[in-house]
Amino acid sequence: MSALPRQPNTAGLTLLRTDTSESGSLDLMRLLTTITDNLVGMIFRCRIDDAWTMEYVSEGCFKLTGYRPTELTFNRRISYDRLTLPEDRERVTRIIREALAVGVSFEVEYRIRRADGFVCWVLERGVGIPDDHGNPRWIEGYIQDISERMAVDEMLREAVRRYSSLFDHATEGIFQTTPDGRYLNANPALARIYGHATTDSLMTQLHDIQRQLYVLPGRRTEFIHLMQTEGVVRNFESQVYRRDGSIIWISENARVVRNSDGSVQFYEGTVVDITERKEHDAALEHQANHDSLTGLPNRALMRDRIQQAIDQARRNGRMVAVVFVDLDHFKLINDSLGHHIGDRLLLEVAERLTSCVRGNDSVARQGGDEFVVLLSDQQRQDEILTVVSRLLEVISRPWSNAGEEYGISCSIGVSCYPQDGNDPDTLLRCADAAMYQAKDSGRSTHHFYTPELNEAISARLELENSLRHALERQEFRVYYQPRIDIATGRILGAEALIRWDCPGKGIVSPDSFIAIAEETGLITPIGEWILREACRQNAAWQRDGLPPMTVSVNLSPIQFRHSGLVESVAAALQDAALDPAYLELELTESFVMHDAERINDAMHSLKALGVDISVDDFGTGYSSLSYLKRFPVDRLKVDKSFVRDIDTDPDDAAIVRAIITLGHALGLKVVAEGVETAAHLDYLRTHGCDEVQGYYFSKPLPADALEALLRSGLPHSTPAALGQVTA
Ligand code: C2E
Ligand code: CA
Ligand code: CA
Repeated sequence: MSALPRQPNTAGLTLLRTDTSESGSLDLMRLLTTITDNLVGMIFRCRIDDAWTMEYVSEGCFKLTGYRPTELTFNRRISYDRLTLPEDRERVTRIIREALAVGVSFEVEYRIRRADGFVCWVLERGVGIPDDHGNPRWIEGYIQDISERMAVDEMLREAVRRYSSLFDHATEGIFQTTPDGRYLNANPALARIYGHATTDSLMTQLHDIQRQLYVLPGRRTEFIHLMQTEGVVRNFESQVYRRDGSIIWISENARVVRNSDGSVQFYEGTVVDITERKEHDAALEHQANHDSLTGLPNRALMRDRIQQAIDQARRNGRMVAVVFVDLDHFKLINDSLGHHIGDRLLLEVAERLTSCVRGNDSVARQGGDEFVVLLSDQQRQDEILTVVSRLLEVISRPWSNAGEEYGISCSIGVSCYPQDGNDPDTLLRCADAAMYQAKDSGRSTHHFYTPELNEAISARLELENSLRHALERQEFRVYYQPRIDIATGRILGAEALIRWDCPGKGIVSPDSFIAIAEETGLITPIGEWILREACRQNAAWQRDGLPPMTVSVNLSPIQFRHSGLVESVAAALQDAALDPAYLELELTESFVMHDAERINDAMHSLKALGVDISVDDFGTGYSSLSYLKRFPVDRLKVDKSFVRDIDTDPDDAAIVRAIITLGHALGLKVVAEGVETAAHLDYLRTHGCDEVQGYYFSKPLPADALEALLRSGLPHSTPAALGQVTA
């Protein structure tokens, strides 16, 4: 006994004391006391009564409850039962009594309030101890503080709650799948993305991911391959079927989860529906590669397609043709009729071009009124020619819009792989050059590229450049061609025709620069200049005592675009002090008819100034008689192309007769231009043409030469020469 470090605190343990002093090896009593006193937790023996009266508690009692063992035993200060939280008491009692009833040990967790007021969780394990009659009288057991474990458990539970909430409420689909394509786990978002009402529906119905989910089953193979080699997939984009069979785009991020032996346990990852983004991307891509008006491929996409066609032709030993199509006079239509009509015409042209090509050929809009047709896989040049001829023919069909019919035409340039170039840029450039050549050859025709064309193109560019400076350098001249009254042989007037005295080139004819001046807008200042110059010259001639006559000035449609036209005509007349009766303005028939409504007003304003108006190149456009009747027109000028063969071609002769009749019926004078021979004159006079103009009488002349002619009199214009009998 003496060896015990402290007195045992209850009598109960004396029963266990074993005298080991003889053997000198084991004092069991001391050992047990040491253990029980130092045990974390509390060993106890209590009575089975209402207060669970403790007969013995070990030293651990203080640490566990904050009460000394002496305070708890025999309920000296408080009964252990009181420590148990009231809300747990009934459960604890029930569990213990049930165990006692059947004679088994029990385990129960509950909370106690410590002496310091804190609540802690404890685990009590115990067993009933029977009395001599075999009835359970005591409980002996062990109570330990499990607050820490309970806190950890709670944290775990909280973590699980949080993660499962994330899993359930994530907007991304989350999955775990087996390598053979079944779902182990899927969240509601995944079910939603794939069109299933519940995750159960998804997991039971989708049991072969490779075959049921992916539009291209190869995607799953690739997915698995990546998993095997990389262990992850990132932003793995695929098209998949939803439950209703519709197709969406998804992006997957996933990783492989392995067992401790390295074998694959499952794949887990996330899925987002990227259909909208894909559609947006596709729309952007379409926008970047297509023309917004016609929906045709644009320049960039066409370049790619030409490259593809070249690559293919190189492999197959075939040809590729790049066909550049440019509408003739589109600017005029667009400017005069308005952009919405211009747009409609472009749509029409796009449709017509597309109708001429095979499925694997393409039509692109290059910009403005330029289109490119790509003919791939061609065998012979004559095949290409056939298509080109068809394109020309199809485009030249008249176009009806809102009850009006318009004549349209285009100029076509063609270049071919391999002979003209072996890259898209070169082929396009060559086709463009060939197209300009077609324009120069009088439009409505085609031209195949030849190396000489390059020179022509640079010449054109050079011309355009020098034209920009021609006005300030005073290189323009006005020539005058007399207009003669058939009946009297008198010079009634002269047409002012511009010439360009270009350094190094000599006198350049307007046919080679008016179109460029119109395209570049230079025609406005040039037109204004010639108007002023013609008025000034005419006034000067009158002041010099020459018989008064009319000077005719050609107006470009482009000049009508500027609202100041009427004012500038008025100013030219006023500054020259010329009577408006001696100025005539010539407008081409095609223009007059193209924009009849709009220019009607301008014409009436001009007419109100007191000038004459003539319709030039009559017979080449599409005149509407009703317009002609409404317009304040004084003269029709029969186009020289009809006059040229008037004595040999019965059709031309008939047209000229019809124009004369028509003009007269409308009360207009009829002038024939391009009169070169006595035969021309004879025919015209016989059929009642009023006035003539042409080389037969005089070429266009510089002002001083015309003045000399006016003073000396014209050859061929004596009454005798005009076939009139002098009295
Ligand atoms: P246009 O108004 O039809 O002028 C008549 C053209 O026929 C002139 O050509 C004239 O020289 C030519 N010509 C005259 N008589 C004969 C003949 O007997 N036989 C042949 N084969 N041709 C004859 P030009 O001067 O070269 O002018 C060509 C075109 O340039 C003009 O055709 C006109 O559309 C335009 N143009 C000329 N000057 C001006 C101008 O100042 N402003 C504008 N906007 N255009 C002009
Ligand atoms: Ca003219
Ligand atoms: Ca003419």
